[in-house]
Amino acid sequence: MGSNTPRKAGSERGGRATEEMSYRTRLEETLPRVRETIAEAARRAGREPEEVRIVPVTKGHPLEAVEAILDAGLRDVAENRVGELEEKARRLRDDRVRWHMVGHVQRRKAPRLLPIVHLLHSLDSVRLARRFQRVVEDPEAPLRALVQVNTSGEEAKGGFEGRDGALRGLGEILEIARIRVEGLMTMAPLTDDEETLRSTFRRLREIHEEARETLPEYRGTELSMGMTNDYPIAVEEGSTMVRIGTALFGERPE
Ligand SMILES: *Cc1c(COP(=O)(O)O)cnc(C)c1O
Repeated sequence: MGSNTPRKAGSERGGRATEEMSYRTRLEETLPRVRETIAEAARRAGREPEEVRIVPVTKGHPLEAVEAILDAGLRDVAENRVGELEEKARRLRDDRVRWHMVGHVQRRKAPRLLPIVHLLHSLDSVRLARRFQRVVEDPEAPLRALVQVNTSGEEAKGGFEGRDGALRGLGEILEIARIRVEGLMTMAPLTDDEETLRSTFRRLREIHEEARETLPEYRGTELSMGMTNDYPIAVEEGSTMVRIGTALFGERPE
């Protein structure tokens, strides 16, 4: 380091976050590229690019990343830890931001998350849903959430297990009045194997379609799937929200 020459954000993945390049400058380059990639994938699948919302994931990046997102005209921002989300929301104090939570939430942290979160992507147990039910005070302002499903079969991934687990869990959560289920979320394995990625996303869409047919209470419209490594495939398979960190902001600083 030591040089203050501006550096180009290297690779497709956005390069390393360096102090030499501001988040704003970096986004001017990466955001159009991500949008174009989404548009191409949507067209390949006969979808409209507007059906896919970019949810930038700023975890591990400074507040400047969130400010750059707002400057670029976006309002959705995601974090994966309650503490970091709280901290950023408190320091930023900008009510233009719609905060998304995409990581596992411990039940005891539900009360802290509730006042901040616009959409919880990672509702991964009935017990967590029941915890939120007790915390939401206003029945007219339910928690908006996506039910997380493990469609990859990977042990380490959170969420309800596969089709059966998802339909059963979804059925129980739909009975909880103060939660509004807006759709489903999944995470694919970190792999380059296209067929593995595709089938992980396709399974989520199939569960969503089956739920729409068999669970009258389910009116979800959102499929949160796709990250830097796999979002073009996720869009081809029907994603409505891609959660993108690295492709927008570069590698997360340690
Ligand atoms: C970090 C994270 C992302 C974004 O990952 P990138 O590979 O940086 O795009 C998306 N979803 C979840 C749940 C995450 O934790």
